[in-house]
Amino acid sequence: MTAVELGLPVVRGNPDTTERPDSPLLVDRFGRTATDLRVSLTDRCNLRCTYCMPAEGLDWLPKPDLLDDAELGRLIRIAVTRLGVTDVRFTGGEPLLRPGLDDVIAATAALTPRPRVSMTTNGLTLAKRAAGLVAAGLDRVNVSLDTLDPKRFLRLTRRDRLADVFAGLEAAREAGLSPVKVNTVLMRGVNEDEAVPLLRHCLEHGYQLRFIEQMPLDPQHGWDRADMVTAEEILAALRAEFSLTPEPGDRGGAPAERWLVDGGPAVVGVIASVTRPFCAACDRTRLTADGQVRNCLFSQSETDLRALLRGGASDEEIADRWRGNAWVKAAGHGINSAGFSQPDRPMSAIGG
Ligand code: SAM
Ligand code: SF4
Repeated sequence: MTAVELGLPVVRGNPDTTERPDSPLLVDRFGRTATDLRVSLTDRCNLRCTYCMPAEGLDWLPKPDLLDDAELGRLIRIAVTRLGVTDVRFTGGEPLLRPGLDDVIAATAALTPRPRVSMTTNGLTLAKRAAGLVAAGLDRVNVSLDTLDPKRFLRLTRRDRLADVFAGLEAAREAGLSPVKVNTVLMRGVNEDEAVPLLRHCLEHGYQLRFIEQMPLDPQHGWDRADMVTAEEILAALRAEFSLTPEPGDRGGAPAERWLVDGGPAVVGVIASVTRPFCAACDRTRLTADGQVRNCLFSQSETDLRALLRGGASDEEIADRWRGNAWVKAAGHGINSAGFSQPDRPMSAIGG
């Protein structure tokens, strides 16, 4: 397969010997620039989705290792004011479990230039939080929802909380968050029959649905390509009930391929990270709750900004270390290559 077919950037020259240009931005050896920062606020969660966490939870990060609000605020400020980050998404673990979340959001939204501020959440406590989060400066939300069936939700997440997710979604819409996006991971033999019902539900409620192919990031290392419901299969299921036409326009760095449903304006997205990787357009940089920067979900190494922060480094020293991390980003995630190995941290500890 060619680089383009693998979703890899086209290589010009030798990336290993290319000199980094004198740019303040998070540029890499393949010509990409990271402008989208994913911040994990905690590795803890109040659900136990079977594909993400074992029933007993994980070995949580020790509290002293976590960035406090001031440290976190400083790193986000450096990213936005020195490194050209334009979008900040809070995630986890479950970001709504982070004490002081509203203040973290308010501090982020107060930066100049103001970044777009969004969050990915399981939505459990969104019903009582949405209005406050919007007042603090939250612009967008993605709520994860893998099933419409309460019994299945209980089996999948090991908690009987589907009604809370529905209430959270409604509250998000009422609080003015737009669009309210829904993230769904389909799994064979678990919820693969719900593509059409989930899209119907989202169309009826005015939510924008995106399916995400399951990736090898589970702590149990149980991911099996054969169990992954592929983008092709999802689209085939949807096409049996809806007409889908590619949304016109440039996708930019957005991971989702989007389709107009029955002529639009409603759209559905499919994020085919495994079968149609989009690494060539990747514009992400990631910060874990314990202050490590990663240039990819799948990278095998991290850059320790917490040690720098706590060691008295200046803003520019921290920014420079972050630039160095971005520069060595790999061409692609490598899931489809021989010799691929999962990163040590699971999705919930990196920030999904
Ligand atoms: N707890 C929040 C939530 O569930 O939205 C935020 C963190 S969660 C890790 C972020 C997203 O990652 C969720 O939509 C979840 O379904 C998805 N996810 C978790 N493990 C995944 C995997 N192995 N492959 C693809 N998506 C995954
Ligand atoms: Fe928690 Fe999100 Fe992982 Fe589910 S997917 S266990 S809600 S972190």
